[in-house]
Amino acid sequence: MTETIAAPTTKPIHHWIGGTSVEGTSGRTGPVWNPATGEQTGAVDFATVEEVDAAVRAAKEAFLSWRSVSLSKRADLFFAIRELIHEHREDLARILTAEHGKVLSDAMGEVARGLEVVEYACGIPTLLKGEYSEQASTGIDVYSIRQPLGVVAGITPFNFPAMVPMWMWAPAIACGNTFVLKPSEKDPSAAVYTAELLKEAGLPDGVFNVVHGDKVAVDAILEHPDISAVSFVGSTPIARYVYETGTKNGKRMQALGGAKNHMIVLPDADIDMAADAAVSAAYGSAGERCMAVSVVVAVGDVADPLIGAIKERLPNVKVGPGLESGNEMGPLITREHRDKVASYLDTAAEQGATVVADGRDLEVDGDGFFLGVSLIDEVTPEMDAYRDEIFGPVLSVTRVGTYDEAVALVNDNPFGNGTAIFTRDGGVARQFQFDAQAGMVGVNVPIPVPVAYYSFGGWKASLFGDRHIYGPEGIDFYTRGKVVTSRWPDPATSKIDLGFPQTR
Ligand code: NAD
Repeated sequence: MTETIAAPTTKPIHHWIGGTSVEGTSGRTGPVWNPATGEQTGAVDFATVEEVDAAVRAAKEAFLSWRSVSLSKRADLFFAIRELIHEHREDLARILTAEHGKVLSDAMGEVARGLEVVEYACGIPTLLKGEYSEQASTGIDVYSIRQPLGVVAGITPFNFPAMVPMWMWAPAIACGNTFVLKPSEKDPSAAVYTAELLKEAGLPDGVFNVVHGDKVAVDAILEHPDISAVSFVGSTPIARYVYETGTKNGKRMQALGGAKNHMIVLPDADIDMAADAAVSAAYGSAGERCMAVSVVVAVGDVADPLIGAIKERLPNVKVGPGLESGNEMGPLITREHRDKVASYLDTAAEQGATVVADGRDLEVDGDGFFLGVSLIDEVTPEMDAYRDEIFGPVLSVTRVGTYDEAVALVNDNPFGNGTAIFTRDGGVARQFQFDAQAGMVGVNVPIPVPVAYYSFGGWKASLFGDRHIYGPEGIDFYTRGKVVTSRWPDPATSKIDLGFPQTR
């Protein structure tokens, strides 16, 4: 009997406008891959300017009634959204693994961290409370309220296709705005699934819309007169462009960029703790995290034992398809990206560093975009491996003599997203928190992503704008303040019979 092999199916991935799936008309699509097999699994529509406009119109139409929905009804709806996404967390995680490649446990973690922001948004009645000053002047009261901006948009990167959009749409919609999401074209299905879940939970049509695409869609968002604010997360060159273009067009902007996160290990650190942290923070999600540890700065004589401990742990990082249980690291997002990441191993060696572990030695069956864990020692600041955001499973070690030299590396770096210090000395840790020029600092914590009730954001080239994302600053970003000064006729002089004596 001859076996017939079905041709691989390529799923079309459409926009979501006004509460329904809308097929693209541009004739332009982008390939979506299964990075674990190297097969194309989808073709995502690239929006035209008109399609972006249709999404903005749907959002604009929905805005007036959405902003009038009471806070208690909005909170109820957010509880329902939280429950529904939680119920479908594994379905969502499987979509992430299928298109991004990250292992399923990591994808489940992404959904859980994103849901924390949805949970924070359930507290919207408290979050939008204003201030009140009675009798600011005789008979005059002054109070402040926060109101939504209107239609706001989010443009997101490939590496957290569910969580980063949640950082944006959850606070934006809870504040009473309507939303247009332009997700990464590399793994767009999570956005469409989110739209379906939001509709099922009861979100009115038009409040959440998705347009897929590339620069054409992004520029259409940045230039659209009916979009009030844009949140962007992605690489630094695009973040800078998006920020400058959006502000030029009069929009409120926040644009989070790339990173080069340093983890300083002092000689008194717990070596096992530091080595475990370095391995999970450098290789988790194949290093494709903006908070990944990219450089370990080994201070003094900690370098040799630390590198030994990291090296010892490398064989335990099982690399393979994300849906196979037991794997801890999946493939990279595309073949081109995998090859670019791997090229740093050659340039590092050419420039004088020591390649301790070369991920290209790894063999995985099939044609997936895999690269094994890689470790480079004796990396110095002028080398490409140090200067560039590699965004892959390559950990560099830079050796320095003192704490001051280590801090200078962090502070001289153009990026300032996250940084961490490993030490047993509380005083030094406290000094580091004071000294470090970065937006998020970890003390014996390698990836200090703030919990949902604080805000996330870097400094320097890691963020353009003055508001961090989600948490209290997210509420601030998606609302504008209004202050009301009021005076009422004195009841004592009222001509209307109030039916009771007016006394003071
Ligand atoms: P990217 O900058 O290539 O893409 C981000 C978004 O911009 C996507 O939606 C993409 O379609 C769009 N885009 C790409 N090129 C464009 C262009 N020329 N003009 C207009 N729009 C364009 O980023 P990526 O590769 O998807 O994501 C990885 C990057 O994101 C890394 O640099 C990482 O550090 C960064 N990141 C930062 C954070 C943070 O919080 N600071 C979080 C996650 C990812």
